[in-house]
Amino acid sequence: MSINQAIKKVEERYAHQPEFVQAVKEVALTIAPLYDAHPEYEKLKIFERLVEPDRVIAFRVNWENDKGEVQVNRGWRVQFCNALGPYKGGLRFHPTVNQSVLKFLGFEQIFKNALTGLPIGGGKGGSDFDPKGKSESEIRRFCYAFMRELHHYISKDMDVPAGDIGVGGREVSYMYAMYKNLTHEYSGVLTGKGVGFGGSLMRTEATGYGAVYFLENMLKAQNESIEGKVVLVSGAGNVSLHAAEKACMLGAKVVTVSDSQGTLYDEKGLDQEKINWLKKQKDQSKPLSEYIEVYGGEWFAGQKPWHIKGDIAIPSATQNEVNEEDAKLMVDNGIKYVVEGANMPLTAEAIDHIRDNRVHYAPGKAANAGGVAVSALEMSQNSVRQYKTFEQIDERLKNIMKNIHDCAAEASETYNQTDNGYVDYMAGSNIVGFKRVADALVAYGFLN
Ligand code: NDP
Repeated sequence: MSINQAIKKVEERYAHQPEFVQAVKEVALTIAPLYDAHPEYEKLKIFERLVEPDRVIAFRVNWENDKGEVQVNRGWRVQFCNALGPYKGGLRFHPTVNQSVLKFLGFEQIFKNALTGLPIGGGKGGSDFDPKGKSESEIRRFCYAFMRELHHYISKDMDVPAGDIGVGGREVSYMYAMYKNLTHEYSGVLTGKGVGFGGSLMRTEATGYGAVYFLENMLKAQNESIEGKVVLVSGAGNVSLHAAEKACMLGAKVVTVSDSQGTLYDEKGLDQEKINWLKKQKDQSKPLSEYIEVYGGEWFAGQKPWHIKGDIAIPSATQNEVNEEDAKLMVDNGIKYVVEGANMPLTAEAIDHIRDNRVHYAPGKAANAGGVAVSALEMSQNSVRQYKTFEQIDERLKNIMKNIHDCAAEASETYNQTDNGYVDYMAGSNIVGFKRVADALVAYGFLN
């Protein structure tokens, strides 16, 4: 079956899972040159096999709210592919979570994890539980209840979840406590744990910092530097604030962050003090808009950042946050680099517009792989029960991001996707990630 036929089958079978179909098509459309060069992939139906998860586990989560009422949520774990290592990927708690979203994230995760060069397979999970407006004790009770179900299906050498939207260090710690309680095992079954009880230094910063390290490599390839560049960041969560922090540390001028309520614009640029304030504000679930009372700037209620002029955009909130209109605004406002901090933040039409206008574009599976890479380092630290310093992990992260950049750029060149200095990082990343997984599957025969 050709790739085109496989896509058609996915479209027919999963018409009700649009995000998943979008992610599959994005990969499929760029790996054709690799597929043509490897007839064994077609013979062993590698693509057709990779679009079906090994399994999707669905479960009910009962928990009790502060009024003593029983609440019922749904939970899932998508174990997509363990060809290269234990299933690895975050847990998302957000009302928009469903099987389509988790399958898209799990599918992306297979290739992202392969790109890191570390021994991790791909998976994703979560719940439609909405942490917004919930008390601390409600969140704790939900996390305990979620893990009471999930623990049946994970273990340190089989499936190792982490955080994602709505799941940070606090939630990971609650879930880890329940896992430990149920299994009597002190193991690295979740990553993103607190430093001091199994967590790796730098895991919190890794995704945002890693995205900026990837950007630095892209700029270097064009003989440019990040210093003095005007950067637009969307989102104000873990990825966004750490991307903003690293960009500022390297001399860029970050002028926006945003959330589901609107965009904050500070023409003077953020600095460490302002970023610390933003982190604290978000930790306390307080409005971003209060920033202007303290530091000035403008608040654009209900708007995204893309109407503002800049050199670099780092969309870091959620999937499909940048549509074609937004992409047009980016191009019109002078954006020359788009680096995806979030997973699939650009729609297919937005990607086309960005690439048609030769804006340098780094897809999430390459640019935001730093988080899962440090998670894999956390797993190995847990295994040997010895811990590295912040500087050692930072150095590893820089090397991993450089390596992902260089491998993607090289594949873009090798498969004739580089056009007059314009590197096709999307094709390059998909080709490298896919090839690593496909070669393992070929070696295994038809099991897996
Ligand atoms: P957080 O929950 O810490 O932050 C998410 C941010 O995005 C919040 O500011 C939130 O605003 C905003 N946001 C969420 N949904 C929307 C929306 N529909 N419109 C506008 N803003 C929105 O999540 P993370 O920073 O961890 O994750 C962000 C993205 O990065 C996701 O795509 C995630 O999958 C990806 N990612 C995360 C990794 C990690 O290590 N954490 C690793 C790799 C990728 P509000 O608070 O108002 O909801």
